[in-house]
Amino acid sequence: MSDTFKAIMVSRDEEKNQSVGVENLTVDDLMEGDVVVSVGATTVNYKDGLAITGKSPVVRRWPMIPGIDFAGTVETSENPRWKSGDKVILNGWGVGEVHYGAYAGKARVNGDWLIGLPNGMKPTDAMAIGTAGYTAMLSVLALEKAGVTPSSGPIIVTGASGGVGSVAVSLLSKLGYHVIASTGRVSEEAYLKDLGAAEIIDRAELSEPGRPLGKERWAGGIDSVGSTTLANVLAQTQLRGAVAACGLAQGMDLPTTVAPFILRGVSLLGIDSVMAPIALREEAWQRLSVDLDGAKLASIATQIGFDDIIQTAHDILEGKVRGRVVVDMTA
Ligand code: NDP
Repeated sequence: MSDTFKAIMVSRDEEKNQSVGVENLTVDDLMEGDVVVSVGATTVNYKDGLAITGKSPVVRRWPMIPGIDFAGTVETSENPRWKSGDKVILNGWGVGEVHYGAYAGKARVNGDWLIGLPNGMKPTDAMAIGTAGYTAMLSVLALEKAGVTPSSGPIIVTGASGGVGSVAVSLLSKLGYHVIASTGRVSEEAYLKDLGAAEIIDRAELSEPGRPLGKERWAGGIDSVGSTTLANVLAQTQLRGAVAACGLAQGMDLPTTVAPFILRGVSLLGIDSVMAPIALREEAWQRLSVDLDGAKLASIATQIGFDDIIQTAHDILEGKVRGRVVVDMTA
């Protein structure tokens, strides 16, 4: 138990200047929890980029080990749900924000935050999906529960070449939806078509302020961008359609009117992955293990090592990361 492992630590000085470094820790240095997990794989999400660079106040307890999600193997457990050797996944719950997170060889967490790794899924597969992919699945589930089916009409995915977007495009196309992918990277057209996008549109079409209601172009949407883009997506959603809002890559504002809601009965579905209940998490991960094509997941994911995490955190905020990044912590 006294073995040391590497951990990325973000700290703040008295002037609130943020710095990031790598430290050697032991399990005794970790925060409280009833399960110790050997971290097999993790990933770099947009939110991790914000935490490491300090660009947004993701970290709310200092110092902090960032990393909002991991998959790994239970080492020790005082929680009745888990025993040594169990394979588990963690997404969210404030891990990497207020509780020491995934960018360390080991994590000590509340066992009630964990779910089992679906049968046949490796930790690196789970983290190729990561919180971004699990959020894409939560968004698909929300559309399904709102009654949006493949026969309802096309579905727009914004931020399509990002992590949430890439997994959303793959899932929706495998489920038989006609997917319109909105991207600022038209150079990624072939990548998005390989994932199953039927049409590609330039995100510039949606990023400027538009009319309260426009031509009805889609039955629903998965939006990881927010701001004017989400307002335009809502304005162009057909009668009784639904849009899942899960991100803010363009901005946190939402300059819309009530017109789509009261004149077209459009529903805006809020997606929160961090505090989602365990039953919904299990449903999402179970569906991911069935509905996400393995070959497509491989084409979405790029593998990096622990030493590349900090640079990748900067890259993801600059829009330089395509798809998903998986960190194999055993390499
Ligand atoms: P990525 O950085 O991988 O993807 C975001 C994509 O958004 C980019 O690839 C880009 O796609 C597009 N984009 C970036 N900047 C802009 C801009 N200024 N205007 C329009 N589009 C832009 O991030 P993730 O996929 O990991 O996360 C996406 C969003 O979802 C983030 O805001 C994140 O915080 C949020 N999120 C929310 C969760 C929740 O629980 N609700 C959970 C996980 C993520 P392209 O180049 O194709 O245009």
